[in-house]
Amino acid sequence: MGAAEASKDGDRRIGRRALLIGGAAAAVGTGVLARDELARLWWRTPGVEKPRKEGEVDFAGARWVAASEANWRRADRPDDYDIDMVIIHVTQGSTASAVKAFQDPGHRAAAHYIVGQDGRVTQMIRELDVAYHAGNRDYNERSVGIEHEGFVDRPEDFTAAMYASSARLTARICARYDIPVDREHIIGHVEVPGTDHTDPGDHWDWDRYMKLVRRARTTTA
Ligand SMILES: [Zn+2]
Repeated sequence: MGAAEASKDGDRRIGRRALLIGGAAAAVGTGVLARDELARLWWRTPGVEKPRKEGEVDFAGARWVAASEANWRRADRPDDYDIDMVIIHVTQGSTASAVKAFQDPGHRAAAHYIVGQDGRVTQMIRELDVAYHAGNRDYNERSVGIEHEGFVDRPEDFTAAMYASSARLTARICARYDIPVDREHIIGHVEVPGTDHTDPGDHWDWDRYMKLVRRARTTTA
């Protein structure tokens, strides 16, 4: 489940960027800006971002359905924010209902991915961007969020196809950003500081899942 948090996680990036560039200009004026600081500022210059293609996905085979822009924030990860975490969620509904919610600008929350009980992966937000899924600004900025179709109190919802597919997805994300495959970096929404969400719940089999991620990671180049 995502959390209604857009109000506190709102789009402050432009403000922050303007502040940084403004600060840098002031620093250049006094001649104290180091060369590496200048290099870091380059990608913060408006217009200097990675090329994007409409409908492009970060996980091969995923279906692309765009989330409402109200439910995420444009970014340029991992250059502006390091990605060092994957956060596991459960939708409390069907994939279709989650897709609909994430397309709704009033929902104020969405995850990057939804994994269905049939193992099918839907991507709704690019990994470059910050999705509002963790209910915690810092955790949103540093993580990729994966929803799983089903209900926390229905263990039968967590199918073998879902576990296998999600594990491949998480393994790819860990490979891409060099994230350690352990429970400090692959966590449940319930483990995010300050959250009142309980997903993925007691029926999510972490031992099974981590074993699958580790196996997929070793076979992932
Ligand atoms: Zn959640």
